[in-house]
Amino acid sequence: MYMKEVAASLYPWDLANQTAEVCVDNLVKHSNVNSVYLVGVMHKEKRPLTSLFYTLDPVRKYYLPENSRVYYYVDPEDFSNTKMKPDFTEREFLKEKDWLDDLIRCARDKGLKVGVEISHTFYDTKKAAENNPELLQKDIYGKAIDKFFCSNNPDVHEYMKALFLSSVKHHDVDFIQTCMMLFNEGKAVEQPWFLKEKDPENRLGHLLGILRGGCFCEHCGAKAKAMGYDWDKIKKVLKELADTANSVCHGNIEHIMDNHLLLGSNLTDAGFLLENPSLYQWMEFRMKCITELFADIYQSIKAVKPGVEFRYNNYLRFPEYAGLDFKAVKDYVDSIRDSDYSEQTGAKDNFRYKQNTILKIRRGIGCEKPIIAAFACRPNATPELIKESFKVLSTLGIDGLSLGHYDGSTIELLDAVKDGMLQAGMELCTK
Ligand SMILES: [Zn+2]
Repeated sequence: MYMKEVAASLYPWDLANQTAEVCVDNLVKHSNVNSVYLVGVMHKEKRPLTSLFYTLDPVRKYYLPENSRVYYYVDPEDFSNTKMKPDFTEREFLKEKDWLDDLIRCARDKGLKVGVEISHTFYDTKKAAENNPELLQKDIYGKAIDKFFCSNNPDVHEYMKALFLSSVKHHDVDFIQTCMMLFNEGKAVEQPWFLKEKDPENRLGHLLGILRGGCFCEHCGAKAKAMGYDWDKIKKVLKELADTANSVCHGNIEHIMDNHLLLGSNLTDAGFLLENPSLYQWMEFRMKCITELFADIYQSIKAVKPGVEFRYNNYLRFPEYAGLDFKAVKDYVDSIRDSDYSEQTGAKDNFRYKQNTILKIRRGIGCEKPIIAAFACRPNATPELIKESFKVLSTLGIDGLSLGHYDGSTIELLDAVKDGMLQAGMELCTK
């Protein structure tokens, strides 16, 4: 089968330590890569993520990035409608260079496709929590949710739009990709202690988990009311349900029997939604907000560069619990990268999750738009697992592959990409 793209991510510090040429040459030579992108706004996360030390970096053993810095030029004028302003690196070895333009220059020299990624958090989360907690999502009890910004807050909404717009307006990129965090999806509610055997799927627990998520801020309230929702009723009903969901961990004794009867039962998640139309309405409201956000970002970048590709990098197990509905956003994305890395955990489910997720996305966005399947080329993945993964992927109608990630990889694992493609009958075809 034909692959349009084999993509790989690079970080500014990879380029600084190894040079763009060395990174890109390694990727082309060992892994057939024909598309590279800079993780240009990166959250605070130790690199490499899944191994202790770098294997390909001649300068550093590991690296601790700053919180959500922008590593390339954006125009301050683009941010005039929001009080949020981008932060740039303060690290000496990264200052004074536009890392996106550096990668673009190298990619263009070698005839590759090139892009930029805005990662999970697009603004300093610690600074926001300390100075502007109103930018963050609120849970049903009014508590700010760490790291999750509310896109219904006009400052956040404008900032997001400006960041995407400024990135494509001032740089010669073919695509802009994002795994930005959407509505906080909470945390699954545990099944009660007395069940002899737990259900590994725990579907009802995952649905109830979103009652621990967001958002219930004033901006969401105003927007929901303007859209015709009975926000006060929704909040009242969901507070009761949240008390039931949280009764065990919060020691809320009044709701503990409700919790045990509900989670001990085999009521389906659909059954629970039928009982609670307010929960459905809140989920529908969130879905409409995320669709509108995607539409706003999509239309604003297309207005300045019609040919630029907008790619969502899906990392969510249950996108609908974060407000993302692939059918609803299909007109506002050009492609989806599915960020599954089963290979690094031994693919114990025999790639079932990877398979299910790719089909779910295909069902949502249709056959016209490309799906780029990610895979792990870092420990504990092995060359054998990568090859096995490609054989499964070759049956799923994908359009491309995407390495996760070069910075944790080894030459042996990079070579497995080329070999795996050959063995799975995947051929690069850029037309
Ligand atoms: Zn909100």
